[in-house]
Amino acid sequence: MESKFFLPTNVICENNCVLNHGDIFLKLGKKAAIVTGKNSAKLCGALDDIKEQLDKNKIEFEIYNSVENNPSLETVTDISHKAQAFGADFVVGIGGGSPLDASKAVSILCANPELSPKDLFLNQFRYKLPIVAVPTTAGTGSEATPYSVLLRRDLETKVSFGNELTYPDYALVDYKYTTQIGIETTRDTATDAFTHVLEGFLGKRSNPISDAIAKLGISLFGECMDALISGEIDMVVREKLMTLSLLGGIVISQAGVNSPHGMGYCYTYFMGVPHGRANGFLVKEYLKLNYCIRKDKINQVLSILGYDTIDSFADALKKITGEKPSLLEADIDKYTELSMIQKGSLGNTPYEMTREVVYDLWKKQM
Ligand code: NAP
Ligand code: FE
Repeated sequence: MESKFFLPTNVICENNCVLNHGDIFLKLGKKAAIVTGKNSAKLCGALDDIKEQLDKNKIEFEIYNSVENNPSLETVTDISHKAQAFGADFVVGIGGGSPLDASKAVSILCANPELSPKDLFLNQFRYKLPIVAVPTTAGTGSEATPYSVLLRRDLETKVSFGNELTYPDYALVDYKYTTQIGIETTRDTATDAFTHVLEGFLGKRSNPISDAIAKLGISLFGECMDALISGEIDMVVREKLMTLSLLGGIVISQAGVNSPHGMGYCYTYFMGVPHGRANGFLVKEYLKLNYCIRKDKINQVLSILGYDTIDSFADALKKITGEKPSLLEADIDKYTELSMIQKGSLGNTPYEMTREVVYDLWKKQM
């Protein structure tokens, strides 16, 4: 068996893990920069749990709650200036993927003050501030990946960076923070997590260890599909979705993503479609395109999920994502050009993603 597996994050996944493990902050320094979104960290209780533990350990902190959905390079640059002025020793990201991704960028910009923000994407920085990630959505798994996905207005798309330094040092994973999430965001984020395990499983960089984890994630998604469709999400489903999200992060940290992620950024950038839903819209044609190369693995996925055909699974997935928006001919050309920028996810897709193939895929989305 040939496999590589590198996960430097200390993952603690348990009920009340922030309250149970506040001592970890003592090792990280005297001043914490809390990077989060507008409201949800406060509403779900995660921010109060973190503040309680920082106070208990006499650690000063400042809260930067300006992270928007799909954080921009400008936002993380602005927060990093404030955190540097404060003299932060470490960064605590609380929220969905947006604040967690932002916290990675803030860590690197603070620790490498000579770095111009756009040079983040060269992945050549040498220092970091320690990062603690507390997820409050069950979707991105960003707490266990090195990736930070940032919106680049100059490029009209989202671009990610990350290397071995940008893995969070600690991931504190507790599904209790997700219990109040509305059904739409629950569905969108669950679809994101599913596409992570699916794309990681089918991608060129998959390996036996990541595949074993991916299959566990695919079966968890299968167990949650009925609840996601009906909208009746109980605590058992919440816990499964949080586990799926973490596993999805671990899978893509090793095996990467494929074309649904690379192409989905166009739906998000131009139409405001949430990240996971955007990926979900692209799953059916992705499976069909790659069936000739990954027949065995795609049949395994369908069998784990309990479907006979790609079409019958895609019909069920549509009940979770909703109908995709229609596109104009002019969108197809633009989206094709912008998708081609996403070399990492396209290059990791089993089928060769030439410009013509990507154009055809977008045509099928019309
Ligand atoms: P998000 O953009 O972080 O948050 C979406 C919305 O959910 C926000 O309005 C947020 O409110 C709210 N929310 C968060 N936690 C909540 C809670 N517990 N209860 C109620 N509402 C809550 O969504 P996301 O899907 O988790 O993250 C998407 C981002 O992650 C995208 O930028 C995507 O590209 C990126 N991503 C990263 C990776 C990776 O490996 N790093 C992988 C996949 C996707 P507030 O604004 O008030 O917080
Ligand atoms: Fe994703």
